[in-house]
Amino acid sequence: MSDEIGFVGLGNMGRPMAERLIGAGHRPIVHDRSQAAMSEVVAAGAVAAATLEALTAKAQTVFLSLPTPEVVLAVGRAIAGSPGVVKRVVDLSTTGPKSEMELADILAGAGIALVDSPVSGGVAGAKKGSLALMAAGPLAHFEAVEPLLGAFGKVIRIAEEPGKAQVMKLINNICSAAALAITSEAMVMGAKAGLDPDVMVEVLNAGSGRTTASADKIPRFVLPGSFDFGFAIALSLKDIRLCLEEADRLGVPMMVGNAVRMLFSVTKADFGADADMTEVIRPLERWAGVEVRRRKEA
Ligand code: NAD
Repeated sequence: MSDEIGFVGLGNMGRPMAERLIGAGHRPIVHDRSQAAMSEVVAAGAVAAATLEALTAKAQTVFLSLPTPEVVLAVGRAIAGSPGVVKRVVDLSTTGPKSEMELADILAGAGIALVDSPVSGGVAGAKKGSLALMAAGPLAHFEAVEPLLGAFGKVIRIAEEPGKAQVMKLINNICSAAALAITSEAMVMGAKAGLDPDVMVEVLNAGSGRTTASADKIPRFVLPGSFDFGFAIALSLKDIRLCLEEADRLGVPMMVGNAVRMLFSVTKADFGADADMTEVIRPLERWAGVEVRRRKEA
């Protein structure tokens, strides 16, 4: 009999990923502390576990998609304390290398392996199954879960040791955040000079100024003013902080990274922890006295 799959954390990312598993013919056993998050995935074909223990009693492979390192470690400790039939945990969250190595130790104490597998590509990528997955963990366990990870997107093996994939993820996210920050500044400048935002995006994407922000985040979530990319500013800031801490530990100066952190911190302070990542343009707009929005049809 093939292994049962558990999935803990059914938020912006976890829910569409659990639904991808259902779409691939699996019936994951799911758990979230929010009843509302659970019932939607159960309606799509998953099996509800009211408690974590109910899930670990049945699932050999357990995916985690949880918000912060603290929550991931707390859930990891609870799994290790009540391991049931769990053989391996696959952590899809962004926790940073230090916490991921701690998680590996906690789970190892209960004879459970860890595959560290953070993801990139946002909610849209999670829905389409076009995420980038960075996986680090013991080869046999990686091979056991590789076909499942394939339901989420492109799987790239990083290393044998959990934690290394987290380093790669932090590198990816600092690049993504910096691209959004500088593209937002440049768009505000252009708007103040009287340029049409859609024309600016068209030029950037045809030219050497193209970034993931000009290609996707600005035209889809800023120009219409919807700001619903689906990544909370608090979680995005957490990733930047984890990256800068790791760079500091390695003795690598990150001047641009620190400037990006400031803009994200100001946005969180101004618009709240749940504001969307794409709202980093809003403090810049206010300071400049201009908004970067799609012009209405004449
Ligand atoms: P989210 O806040 O939308 O979802 C987290 C879910 O975990 C929620 O449903 C919450 O109820 C649940 N949860 C919290 N504590 C729990 C607990 N103790 N037990 C069970 N469930 C619990 O977060 P998200 O945006 O889905 O992000 C999840 C992870 O993926 C984060 O580490 C984030 O950094 C990373 N990530 C997010 C994106 C994105 O675009 N949103 C992209 C890549 C990676």
